[in-house]
Amino acid sequence: MAKHALHTEFADIAALRQALDRRAVSAVELARSALDAAQDAADLNAFLHIDADLTLQQARAADAALAAGTAGPLTGVPIAHKDAFVTRGWRTTAGSRMLGQYVSPFDATVVERLQEAGAVSIGKLNCDEFAMGSGNENSAFGPVRNPWDRAAVPGGSSGGSAAAVAARLVAAATGTDTGGSVRQPASLCGVTGIKPTYGTVSRFGIVAFGSSLDQAGPLARSSRDALALLDAMAGFDPRDATSVQNCGPVANAPGRVQRDFDGAQARYEAGGAQPLAGLRIGVPAEYLGDGLADDVRAAVQAALAQFEALGARRVEISLPRTELAIPAYYVIAPAEASSNLARYDGVRYGHRTADYADLTEMISRSRAEGFGEEVKRRILIGTYVLSHGYYDAYYLQAQRLRRLIAQDFQRALEQCDVIMGPVAPTVAKDIGENRDDPTADWLADIYTLGVSLAGLPAMSVPCGFGSGAHSRRPVGLQIIGNYFDEGRLLAIADRYQHVTDWHLRAPASQDA
Ligand code: GLN
Repeated sequence: MAKHALHTEFADIAALRQALDRRAVSAVELARSALDAAQDAADLNAFLHIDADLTLQQARAADAALAAGTAGPLTGVPIAHKDAFVTRGWRTTAGSRMLGQYVSPFDATVVERLQEAGAVSIGKLNCDEFAMGSGNENSAFGPVRNPWDRAAVPGGSSGGSAAAVAARLVAAATGTDTGGSVRQPASLCGVTGIKPTYGTVSRFGIVAFGSSLDQAGPLARSSRDALALLDAMAGFDPRDATSVQNCGPVANAPGRVQRDFDGAQARYEAGGAQPLAGLRIGVPAEYLGDGLADDVRAAVQAALAQFEALGARRVEISLPRTELAIPAYYVIAPAEASSNLARYDGVRYGHRTADYADLTEMISRSRAEGFGEEVKRRILIGTYVLSHGYYDAYYLQAQRLRRLIAQDFQRALEQCDVIMGPVAPTVAKDIGENRDDPTADWLADIYTLGVSLAGLPAMSVPCGFGSGAHSRRPVGLQIIGNYFDEGRLLAIADRYQHVTDWHLRAPASQDA
């Protein structure tokens, strides 16, 4: 059993920063402890690449900044990055054999921004290959185990990120979410995660999967900790053509999410015992219907009741095309993936086969050897739906559906302020459970895909556990907002976390 790292002795990132400021703890001590904890928890398989020298170099720089009085909002805070973000120094594999030895010459914008804010990276975290999956079982480097129950998956594709935060190896981690990959592992590991509005966080340096869907977001213990990371990560980046300059009337820059959070927070605080009075929570009938496990439904209903106790009003709404998000996403995401992954040809970078007679054979063998099953499946589907004759029947139809799904959300958000429901239909499944039916996992994305297709922000907040044999497997509540509502979502989740302690629970540590 893993041991919790030193940072867990402090309630949250804010408390940790204060302790660093008064020299109650140093960045080097925190980093060493996190490195040790990661080592002890090797059986989780959460980390893919660790380099103590690189980490300690960052930690020493953090201590120097603290001493010089130039510390930033995250100085000395131990975090780790999903291996889908390129990093100088640490290898970047995106969970693929194709990139097995790849070291990037530059840092992703997210990595750069978090480093500028002072965060110390403990290393790179395991994930599904090219972020394709819902259980972290598609990593070329083996599955990640759920720290709550090692027989279970941690969720995916940011499974290493969720597991590392849940096991208290790091204070927070980065993830990417194309169709649910921040929210779903956060839910299955009992941590707090947020996928922001598409375009608010730069995709520069994220190994591309589905470019019109990919967004980065943090996973952390609490909503406040997630806020601390997101605020530093978000902001316009001229190196990403889809990065937004403005979020409504305000610039997309660090400080925006924090300001929105503070504004919402001030209003809620003025509400006293009913901080959320007036908040209309839309609950889509389609999110609580058939296919949702009873234990997940019960945990979500209990969370909704808790929000009502805080003053919010529940409004029944409908998202009529919820089921259609699955075929729409599983056409669009593979289409974009097939195009993005064309770059791995054994020439520019990535794996090259040892044995070939000519160029064509070199490319096909390199790809056959480098890619795993799920990635090949998606490349085939994507190539098919984009091909002449099938483009209109599949790709174009999926794009039309995408537009209608986005409209459904806008209509629903006229009747309510935020939407709540489950993140996933069940608690974490067993490792290997869907081995013979690869598309079974796809169906489990039903509550997260629509949000991604619409480009909306959404988070997962721990709200309970499963029942019976699954009583140690966490359940997350999904909170969905309108475009650029990140600050408000985090403030709403924060009110919930004031009166509940699901987010404070952690899998037992060795010396607890
Ligand atoms: N489970 C979805 C998929 O496999 C979403 C993954 C993601 O968000 N990266 O594509």
